[in-house]
Amino acid sequence: MANAPTALVLKDIHKSYGDLAVLKGVSLTAYDGDVISILGSSGSGKSTLLRCINLLENPSQGEITVGDESLALKPAKDGNLVAANRKQLERLRSRIGFVFQNFNLWPHKTILENIIEAPVQVLKQPKAEAITRAEQLLEKVGLADKRNAYPDNLSGGQKQRVAIARTLAMDPQVLLFDEPTSALDPELVNEVLAVMKELAEEGRTMLIVTHEMRFAKDVSSQVIFLHQGQIEEMGPPDQVFNHPKSKRVQEFIASHS
Ligand code: ADP
Ligand code: MG
Repeated sequence: MANAPTALVLKDIHKSYGDLAVLKGVSLTAYDGDVISILGSSGSGKSTLLRCINLLENPSQGEITVGDESLALKPAKDGNLVAANRKQLERLRSRIGFVFQNFNLWPHKTILENIIEAPVQVLKQPKAEAITRAEQLLEKVGLADKRNAYPDNLSGGQKQRVAIARTLAMDPQVLLFDEPTSALDPELVNEVLAVMKELAEEGRTMLIVTHEMRFAKDVSSQVIFLHQGQIEEMGPPDQVFNHPKSKRVQEFIASHS
């Protein structure tokens, strides 16, 4: 999608925890509508990368641009970078949606309340408007009848679909998914992947950490293989899955298909 405007640009992102260098210079560009799957062994830095993009973790070095806005990062006492101002950080966070492996729904709130919380509290949407939008989103993920239920009464697949609806309610420019189906029983994986595929087809910009190889091959515009905090290989799915240049990637694909 190289003719589209850029949605997300990462330049030379580094992240260390003490002496442990976890990300060692990751650069990538996601154009509007790109679906980028991120593969790699456990511990390769996939979650850390997504968390740095959303500044749930502060990178140690690098630059992040979302849409037309470059986030100004400045060094803090611990050597990591922090957002230069809080307003800008909040704006960036609200432009980036994050879907977690374990859903992170509020257990004491209904499904509808979970979805309208951030639009009302952060975006200051009028409550009636937020409810109308939440109802549309619940319809979209096939859970209109669950609006008054509590998370505990839902299956894992339903919880993850609610979490996706909640993320969409903020109208983010970029969606990040960190192993969204890894906590699910196998029979519930496809209902979540189907929703994600629909989002991809709508042209949403997505970065997806996943072990679902068939899904990644099917929906991605780009695939990235991360190894020890660096991009080992990056390319269109046909290249990475069918003709990987790196021996490490060949072995990973072979053992995961
Ligand atoms: P992945 O998601 O690819 O499995 P992670 O990004 O979770 O990998 O972790 C990459 C490395 O960073 C691992 O060695 C992990 O132990 C380390 N790590 C992750 N988070 C922290 C943390 N908060 N403090 C110290 N080390 C961490
Ligand atoms: Mg992880």
